[in-house]
Amino acid sequence: MPRPILATVSIPALRHNLALARRNAPGRSVWAVVKADGYGHGLANALRGFAAADGLALVEFDAAARLRREGWRGPLLMLEGAFDAEDVAQAVRERLALVVHEPRQIEWLEALRAPAAIDVYLKFNSGMNRLGFVQRAFRDACERLSRIGAVRRVALMTHFANADLPGGAVEALERFEAAAAGLPGARSLANSAATLLLPSAHGDAIRPGIMLYGATPCDDREARSFGLRAAMTLRSRLIAVQTLGAGDAVGYGSTFRAERPMRIGVVACGYADGYPRHAPSGTPVAVDGMLTATVGRVAMDMLMVDLGPVPHAGPGAAVELWGETVPIDAVARASGTIGYELMCALAPRVPVRVLDDAPAP
Ligand SMILES: *Cc1c(COP(=O)(O)O)cnc(C)c1O
Repeated sequence: MPRPILATVSIPALRHNLALARRNAPGRSVWAVVKADGYGHGLANALRGFAAADGLALVEFDAAARLRREGWRGPLLMLEGAFDAEDVAQAVRERLALVVHEPRQIEWLEALRAPAAIDVYLKFNSGMNRLGFVQRAFRDACERLSRIGAVRRVALMTHFANADLPGGAVEALERFEAAAAGLPGARSLANSAATLLLPSAHGDAIRPGIMLYGATPCDDREARSFGLRAAMTLRSRLIAVQTLGAGDAVGYGSTFRAERPMRIGVVACGYADGYPRHAPSGTPVAVDGMLTATVGRVAMDMLMVDLGPVPHAGPGAAVELWGETVPIDAVARASGTIGYELMCALAPRVPVRVLDDAPAP
């Protein structure tokens, strides 16, 4: 028998979240972001869930090739652009749109002897100071790109550092608009947070990622409050039950001690499955559908839970680590991280079951 841990990915939830992103930005194009293997959900699953997107955006060129092999004929946008001249050649062959954030990338395009084939998204650095051009350099790069024969269209983009905070992207948006004033081309600015919170940044094409998978982009707003549905559920089962006396400890380092007699359950899920080792005692978890909390240190293959709220649960009882009952964001917050990291870290040893209510197209 396989170990009882199982992740499920709900294609209807992915579709629902994409439709919600679209309703938030009516009339705009939607680039569904599928980098990092569809935020850990599996590239093929993301492709099924986002078949209605206007385009897919990612950073890995091998994954772009896979999407083409799997039949995606729509636009693909490479969010970090080309890493070398060979990537630019692949972009021509496979019709990939390229972000340009660096002068070297312009040189690779200038060296191409190809008919007008490549769509470029020129990146403005609006304050993140990670990728992109500022002010004059941005306008100069735009001018230079517009003279390259192999470039078909130039769109303008930026990525916000603080769109999840109230008013956090307003100044960055102003900087972008000042730099882009008068330049032709479509605009693409909004990640999930700006899609949900900053309509003035919707531009021509939004680029939602995390919201499509049903997690929140904001520290202080639950995904559910936006109407999002969790796409990934991580489940396992109790494989043992222990009865502790007052003062007994649980797990490595004996970091948790029972104050009074209590029953605890041992779950077949650990950090080698992608569950965060930093999750402290008290991290939410559900047993038999009832909310309870972890106790003690997370180990490689196991973690322990308080069975106080579920006195009848025994070995074999169903456990949800995160998903529909326990928001992934709640586990992340308790562990000092974000839902993004947990979903991307789902380990390869965890089997994934795909739920779909419609036949594949
Ligand atoms: C990852 C990424 C996004 C999506 O961000 P979310 O916060 O997941 O919505 C959008 N744009 C760029 C450039 C990105 O790298």
